[in-house]
Parts: sequence; structure tokens; C-alpha cells
Amino acid sequence: MAKKKAKKNVYSFGGGKAQGSAKMKNLLGGKGANLAEMSGLGVPVPPGFTITTDVCTHFMKMKGKYPMGLTKEVDLAVKKVEKLMKKGFGDPDNPLLVSVRSGARQSMPGMMETVLNVGLTTETIKGLIRKTGNERFVWDAYRRLITMYSDVVMEKSAGIEPKEGKGIRHQLEHELDKLKKKRRVKQDTELTAEDLKTLCVTYKKTVKKVLKKNFPDDAMAQLWGGITAVFRSWNGKRAISYRKIEGIPHEWGTAVNVQTMVFGNTGENSATGVAFSRNPATGENKFYGEWLINAQGEDVVAGIRTPQSLTEATKTPETRHLPSLEKANPKVFRQLSRIRAKLERHYRDMQDLEFTIEEGTLYMLQTRVGKRNGVAAIRMAVEMAKEGLISKKEAVMRVKPEQLDELLHPMIDPHAEKKAAKLASGLPAGPGGATGQAVFTADDAEAWAKKGRKVVLVRDETSPEDVHGMHPAEAILTATGGMTSHAALVARGWGKCCIVGCAALQIDTPKRRMTVGGRTVKEGDWITLNGTKGNVYQGSLTLLPADPDTNKPYKQLMKWADSFRKLGVRTNADTPEDAALARRFGAQGIGLTRTEHMFFGPDRILAMRQMILADDEKSRRKALAKLLPYQKKDFMGILKAMKGLPVTIRTLDPPLHEFLPHDDKSQKKVAKSLRIPVKKLKEKVQSLHELNPMLGHRGCRLGVTYPEITEMQVRAIMEAACALAKKKIKVFPEIMIPLIGTKAELTDQKNVAVRVAEEVLKKHKVRVDYKVGTMIEIPRAALTADKVAEAAEFFSFGTNDLTQMTFGYSRDDVGKFLPGYIEAGILPKDPFQSIDEGGVGQLVETAVKRGRATRKDLKIGICGEHGGDPASVDFCHRTGLNYVSCSPFRVPIARFSAAQAALR
Ligand code: ADP
Ligand code: MG
Ligand code: MG
Repeated sequence: MAKKKAKKNVYSFGGGKAQGSAKMKNLLGGKGANLAEMSGLGVPVPPGFTITTDVCTHFMKMKGKYPMGLTKEVDLAVKKVEKLMKKGFGDPDNPLLVSVRSGARQSMPGMMETVLNVGLTTETIKGLIRKTGNERFVWDAYRRLITMYSDVVMEKSAGIEPKEGKGIRHQLEHELDKLKKKRRVKQDTELTAEDLKTLCVTYKKTVKKVLKKNFPDDAMAQLWGGITAVFRSWNGKRAISYRKIEGIPHEWGTAVNVQTMVFGNTGENSATGVAFSRNPATGENKFYGEWLINAQGEDVVAGIRTPQSLTEATKTPETRHLPSLEKANPKVFRQLSRIRAKLERHYRDMQDLEFTIEEGTLYMLQTRVGKRNGVAAIRMAVEMAKEGLISKKEAVMRVKPEQLDELLHPMIDPHAEKKAAKLASGLPAGPGGATGQAVFTADDAEAWAKKGRKVVLVRDETSPEDVHGMHPAEAILTATGGMTSHAALVARGWGKCCIVGCAALQIDTPKRRMTVGGRTVKEGDWITLNGTKGNVYQGSLTLLPADPDTNKPYKQLMKWADSFRKLGVRTNADTPEDAALARRFGAQGIGLTRTEHMFFGPDRILAMRQMILADDEKSRRKALAKLLPYQKKDFMGILKAMKGLPVTIRTLDPPLHEFLPHDDKSQKKVAKSLRIPVKKLKEKVQSLHELNPMLGHRGCRLGVTYPEITEMQVRAIMEAACALAKKKIKVFPEIMIPLIGTKAELTDQKNVAVRVAEEVLKKHKVRVDYKVGTMIEIPRAALTADKVAEAAEFFSFGTNDLTQMTFGYSRDDVGKFLPGYIEAGILPKDPFQSIDEGGVGQLVETAVKRGRATRKDLKIGICGEHGGDPASVDFCHRTGLNYVSCSPFRVPIARFSAAQAALR
């Protein structure tokens, strides 16, 4: 039997060869895998080796023990590097120095540790000075080693937790500052060799004093100290919390890269820098980066000196007076540009690069796929496809649906946001940025807005009675409520910036003010909301406008996306304006028109209330007759805006009490306008009171009790349709009965609808293609979908109610426990935002299967909040739905998600 081969723990790279490759990210970490890949491609990479992530997992499991034979493997790998470099690690005459670098599978910027210049000791310092004749550089390298090593290895990795500002790095930097002051210089590059040499002596003394240990003076001891510290940094506090936020598994572990040092700090002919193969903020295909002469490692990002622009074209006011690499060293710049092109072609994506120039020779130290914002992601994807670097399909798959959002809403200027004072955070219910003066009632919002002021409406929570103040507000902020609360739903529908569930707000409505985080915001004070992140800021921050139609790459990408997608995308819209907007965003019809919002208009709310207060059918019909012309007008507007496309209109859904006032003052006002005693109104409100209105007298149940309401609504729809049909405008109304649980309920309402519809058609003598269907939002309806489909000409899943009733969670009260559930991992995500495939999804699948068994061509859609959520859209595609419907501003995201679902 063949002897089992020992597991390989160390992978070498350098000299145009590599044992690893980019495919081995899991084992070698991103940095290690890409260093190997670059080496193999013949890109100049200083030689070195990678210790695998498996060693890290072993190290953690075995409580700090390394696998057998690792020391030997490392020794051999060091030998290989020594041979390539013709130098010796710890060799006093010709010393090799290395860096020890962390590198996980997925980049965790700044979360783990790196130590540079490892191998400098009393002996090798002398040798290196002799060899280079550059005493200043050697002491500069040594003071950097002491700083990084004492911080990373001797303090952090040893588990020492110094008090704020008392860390060893801080204390050493303090010594450096003291010396700079004494020498009256600003930059560390202005210090002399002698200065740095004395500084190193002070440093070592400080280390001894603070950490009670001598700075190690042996190259091998330094190397293993560094390796162990990097492995341990995987379980550092910062790294753990970062992984929690990003959802990176703790078992992954980090790799360690040991790599020959190249020096950007030997003098004016050396430098270090970072670069992006394309501009990560705009996506423009222009080389973009920053570099610093006579510097090492993190100096560029650390902000100690102003970094210089890489190219002439990308200079900024701050860097105008400093030479670009393009000008300062055209030869190296050309070489770097060739590497940029080569790596981008090879990886087929934008690269984020690190490089160092030592005495005029260029070395690459890192490459990875670069992070980018939404605007840049779209532009790069489209241009790369046009350049032939990637296919159109890849271009569509490369952009995250949420990244489109950036183009659809104004955003807070990121520079301003960074410096702004954050007051609180809540749930990001409506994306984009908005700024305005705080007001605390809907009436105030309306009044202020009429005077041309920009306002943000701040409420504990909102109700349909606040809608008149919500609409003119720039943004809405509430203290309670979840992602499907009234405020969130309404705001999303309008594409309005909105933050809900902002628990830190203590609102005093009568006094028109709130306290938050120890500060008081009074009526009229400016606040700014980032509805994409859920942050509230003090003051008025600059906003950057949005207009996707002017963005050519966006239009192109959406065109490609539409060519791939199978799923239709409709919109939820209650007004002709919303319908028109959604159409511009690419909606192929309306999936849900909520008629109840229409009853709140000031011109008809009175008639609506008369209808509710009516004592008998006769007076109810009288009030309904007043409502009819308004409804007809509404439907004409919507059907016309959507001409040629289907429009699904839902009959009255909410419980009637929502249309009556509940506080004393408004009850008096309303009673007066209705010319009835307040007592009568109060009695009615009392009689309509329900213990559980969500499960009460609403939906089709209202229509069953009061068929005349359904009659009026159907009449209005069909009158509108006929009027338009006579003008040769193509209309396709779909009448949708909500909240049915049995076929008999639907049949009852369908009979009413068909009777009235046929009556109207006969009267007008025109043909209108209309349908009657239902919402599936009660589990029983889903389970008996085969029966329901006998009566329904279409289904539309109302996944808000379906989720509510499947889980038994009241949508309006989930704020009290759902965040805790998600935090504790009891639920993976909010089922009201992203469809719960395991439970609610089963009901959807069942209903689709059983419904289509009865009616083969049954048209099925979804009109809940989930219609605009990428993961839910993917589910709808897989389940064979015909369309999803979502608020106008989500339409592009739904189209795009549908394309990705089809490509997957
Ligand atoms: P991070 O993952 O935080 O970027 P890195 O391991 O990339 O950490 O190293 C930090 C800095 O040190 C980078 O600017 C890198 O270019 C530099 N650096 C790392 N190794 C070497 C080396 N062998 N020679 C010169 N500079 C190096
Ligand atoms: Mg790096
Ligand atoms: Mg519903």
C-alpha cells in the first residue's frame, strides 16, 4: 500500500513560478492565491511562500499547536527564497528581509495584521548598511519593524489590552512626534540617519518599559512570532465582529504570506502605491491610483503625507503641485500600465493593485477584484462587455440588483455624510437621501410644504390619516413600526426616503419636538435622512440628484437584462402619476391598485363616511352613488396611463373603522361636517371596533355583507373601461377580490362583479376584455387552490397577508420581537421583506400547482412587498409565476433580478 502523503502546508511562489494559483483561494487566502497567480503569469512579484488556512484551523483547534512538520516545510521554503534572492535570512553579511502578511479567503480590509522588515537584528542591520551604503533607509526600516512588531506580536497577539491611547504603537508614535518637533520638521522623510538611529534606541527602551520584554534580536524568532501573531489575529476582537457583520464563517481561518521585502523607502528613486485598473467611483476606464515617493507599506493609506496622483489626468486640486508617476518615471509607469492591462485581461474584472518601486524597479505586491459603487459597477460591466472582455450575460450577473438603487434616488454626498453628526439609526424603509426641517404632525407638514418649505415628517407611527402630510414631505421618520408598517409601505410606493422603527427618538408631539441621543430637535430644525442605510443626521447635508434615463450604461444594461428575463414585471400603483412613472421604469402593467387610498381624498372622504354611517341599504346606496363618479374618474386615469397593458384593481380591503376619526377633536369636526350628533359617530366607531382587525371584517367579507360596495366599484371600473374603449383606447381591467379563504366567497363576489360588468357592457355596446380573479393571501385559499381556480381567472399572491397568517405574526407588531429573532438566529431574515421559501413558499408552490391543475393557463402573479426583493423574485421565477408586481421605484430592480434569476 502506498504511504499516505503528508498534507502540504506551505506553497512557494517566485521566479516566474508558483505552486499555487488563483483557484486556490480557500486554501491560500485571496492574497496568497493571487500572489501565486501573478508569479505564474510572469508579473514581477517578490518571492515568498504561503502557509495555508488549514494550518490556521489546526492551530486554533489544537489551542496554539502547529501541525507536525510545519517547521521543516517553512525552513525549506525559506531556503528556496534565499536561493532565488541570493541572500540569507539572518545572514549578517547579506541579509534577506521578509514581510509576514495575513490573507483570508475574502478580503477583510484592515481587520488583520501585517509585519514588514522582519529579519532586522543588531547583526543584520550592520550588514545591510554595509551592503546598501544607505544608513538612513536601514534605520527607517528598523523603526518601522519595532513599531509593527511590538504592536502586533508583543501586544495584541499576547492578549494585552492597553487603555485608550496607551497602546505601544501610540507611545512609539508619540516619541516620533517628539523628535520631529525637536528637529522642527513636518515629515518623517526629513529626519536624518542619526535621528532615526537614536529613535530606534528610544523605541527599544520604550518597548522594554511598557511590555516588560526585550525586542527579539533573532531573525527566526521574529519570523515565528510574526506567523503566530497573524494566525491569532483571526480571532482578534475586530476581526470577529467584522465577520459577524459580513457573514463570514469563523471556521475559514486566514493564511499567512511570507514574502521578500522590497523597499519603497530607500530614497527619492523609490516609492510605494495603490492603484485601480478603472476608476472605482465612476467606472471610467482610466487608470487611477495614488503613490508616495520614499515611503513604505501603509503610508499611502495612512494619510501622514498627501499621496500623489498616478496619472496626469486624475490629478486633483490637492495633488496638482505634486508630480504624477506618469511624469516622474514614464518608464516604470508604462510597465505598470502593461501589468494593469494584463491583469485585467487575465482576471476579466477591475483590479485593485498594490505596488512598490525599489531604486527604479517595479514590484507587484497584491491584486484583487476591486470594490466599486453602483454607478461604477454598471458602467464597468457594460463597457467590459462592449470591449469583449466579458459576455453580456456576465455583465448582467456582475451588478447586484441593489446597486441599481443608487441611480434611482438622490443620495447624500458621501463626503458630507462622513463628516456629519449622526443622531440615530432605524430601519431603512425607503431608500435614497433627503433633507428638510423637522415637523411633527401631518397638518404641519402640509402647511409648511404649501409655503414652499422642505420638511421631514417625524411621527411615532403613521396612519392613513397622515397621508396628506406624508406626500408633500421630503422624507418620513417614525419611532416605531417595521419594514411593512404603514409609513414604510406608503413611502416605498412613492419612492420616498423613509426610516421607521427609529427607537431612539423620544417624540413630544404636543410640544413639537423630540429628543434623540441626548440632543433636542425642535420644529423647524434641519435633519437629513439616509434611507438606504437607515441613518438620521443633524443639519442639512448636500444631496446628489438621480436620473437614470440620462445614464447610458444603465439603459444598455437594462436592455440586455430584459432580453434574458422570462418573468413579467408589473407595478403597484394607485394614481395615474404613479402608473406613468412605473411605465417609464419599464412596468408591463399594474399588478395591484388599492382602491382604499382613493377614498381618503378630501373631495370624497365625506361621502365615504356617509356610506359607513348609513343605517340601511338605501342610504348606503345613496352615499355610494356619490362615490361612483370619483372612482370612475380615478380608474379612467389609471387605465389610460396603462393603455394597452393589464390593470389589476382590488375591491375594498381594509376594515371600515380605518376611514373614521378616532380622537375626540376630529370626531367633533367630522360629525359637524356630516351634520350628525357626535354621539352617533362615536357609537359607530365603537361598533366597528374589533379586537383583531387584521382578521376581522375586511376584504371580501365586506363585499359579502354589503354587495352594493362591490357593485359600485365594479360599475366604476367598467364605466371607465367602456368610456375609454369607445375612444379606441385599449384597456384590460382585471377585477381582484381580496382575502378569500373559500371558493364560495369568491363565487359570491364574482357573481356580483360579472352581473354588473355585463350590465354596463350591454348598456354601452362595446367589448372590453375583463377578468375576475382573486388574491391568494389566506393559507386556506392556497391549499384549496384547485377549487378556487374553478372560479378565478387569475391569482395574485398577497404575500404580506399570506406571511402574516402563515407565521401568525401581526405585521404591525413584529417590531417588538422580530429584530431579536434575527439577531439570535431564530429567523435567518425578515419574512416580510424576503419570502420565506421553506414555509410561505410551500403554500405558493402548492397553490400554483393546484391552481394550474384546474386551469392550465391560469395567470399568476405576486403583489406583496416581496415583488421588489431580488431573492423573492428569484423564487417567483423558479416557481413559474407569470409576473411580479412592486412599487414603481423597485420596477427596474425587479426587472434586473428577474434577468439574473433566468440566467441562474
Ligand atoms: P493589507 O491586507 O492590510 O493591505 P498587506 O499584507 O497587503 O496588508 O500589507 C500592508 C502594506 O505593506 C501594503 O501596502 C503592502 O504593499 C506592503 N507590503 C507587504 N509586503 C511587502 C513586501 N514584501 N515588500 C514591500 N511592501 C510590502
Ligand atoms: Mg494589501
Ligand atoms: Mg392583503
